[in-house]
Amino acid sequence: MLATDLVTNLQSRLPVLWLNPGLRTRDDPFDPELVEDARRRMLRAGPLLARVIPELAGTDGLIDSPLLDASSLRDSLGGQSTWLFKADNRLPLAGSVKARGGVHEVLEFAEATALAHGWPGDDFVELASPRWRDIFAAYRLVVGSTGNLAISIGLMSRALGFQAQVHMSSDAAEWKKTLLRDQGVEVIEHEGDYATAVAAGRASAQGDLQAHFVDDEQSVSLFCGYATAAQRLAEQLQEAGVEVSQERPLMVYLPCGVGGAPGGITYGLKQVFGDAVHCWFAEPLASPSVLLQMASGVGNKFSVYDLGLDNKTFADGLAVGQASMLAVTCMQDRLAGVFTVGDSALIYYLRAAWEMLGEKIEPSAAASFAGPGWLNGSATGVAWCDRHQVDPNTATHLLWSTGGNLVPKEQFERWLAS
Ligand SMILES: *Cc1c(COP(=O)(O)O)cnc(C)c1O
Repeated sequence: MLATDLVTNLQSRLPVLWLNPGLRTRDDPFDPELVEDARRRMLRAGPLLARVIPELAGTDGLIDSPLLDASSLRDSLGGQSTWLFKADNRLPLAGSVKARGGVHEVLEFAEATALAHGWPGDDFVELASPRWRDIFAAYRLVVGSTGNLAISIGLMSRALGFQAQVHMSSDAAEWKKTLLRDQGVEVIEHEGDYATAVAAGRASAQGDLQAHFVDDEQSVSLFCGYATAAQRLAEQLQEAGVEVSQERPLMVYLPCGVGGAPGGITYGLKQVFGDAVHCWFAEPLASPSVLLQMASGVGNKFSVYDLGLDNKTFADGLAVGQASMLAVTCMQDRLAGVFTVGDSALIYYLRAAWEMLGEKIEPSAAASFAGPGWLNGSATGVAWCDRHQVDPNTATHLLWSTGGNLVPKEQFERWLAS
């Protein structure tokens, strides 16, 4: 049941902080071991990734981003304690948080396809050979996306020699379509929103044995790929000498669209840190799809259109009307809460990231920046901290930046100037 005051605030487009009561009514739909399987698959495939992704040439092929100190951003936005910035805006291949999930799902499909064609399965680097590329060329990966997932799936598929077909809403950024077409990806545009594009992609792959549909709303492979971020973050925190414990909890703020990427990361972080980590999602005022679905329970689907919201936001990566039920189910007793952010704040934060950290991010990626302020400076946030014995002044606050590297310079400059 949705509380009336919550509905009123969402409909009035007032920023809210929603606290998750943490009740579980439905089991997770997959085995937790799959995250470790995904992590091992990505490690084993490192030499292959180093071969087929130009940015990874000469490396161990790890799809990862730096963890940065964000004290200057903290001082500029007003806050205490340690602030960190996870720069997934710099992830290889896709320049966004979609890289880990997308690379993992395409790899898993390549592995299954190769095994079915008699590959012994021990040395991934063999799959870069012309023989395998010829075999892969008969298969097609299909995805529906607002943009960044299309880039991740499209580029990774092409890197291995697969055909790739992406379904996008016609208002998706022009530069994304061009970038994909230049790499030999088939781009199909649809009137309507993200959900329309996903449905069209699903329909296109249905019944075609040579096609694999990457389902942003339901894919376990994608979700587990995202979750692999957690183990690597734990290593980075250790290298940086940052303690994560009940006394010094880690507060993580993640921009959220359908819920898959932030949900997978949260799932992985909970596996690694348990009660010492608290994860918060950030959604646009016009698109609080995961907040709504979490607040109304996993029983019936509930979209932002049902509330009369229009799902129109500057944060195109987060413009999703209906949450992923896979993500919402997994978040039932793992997520701390969700807050909403207005578009004007996103631009302000985007500029701050550039000026204070020199990081080029897109509006979606800036949504997380409002997090520490909610916990420090709102009655709801302070009450949550008291209840969970978290002192926001000694906790570590981590802003998860989710994209921006591939944004053309002219577009980025327009945002800075707006
Ligand atoms: C996709 C995306 C997100 C959110 O991921 P979901 O899986 O849709 O919740 C956040 N930021 C950026 C830049 C994205 O591309």
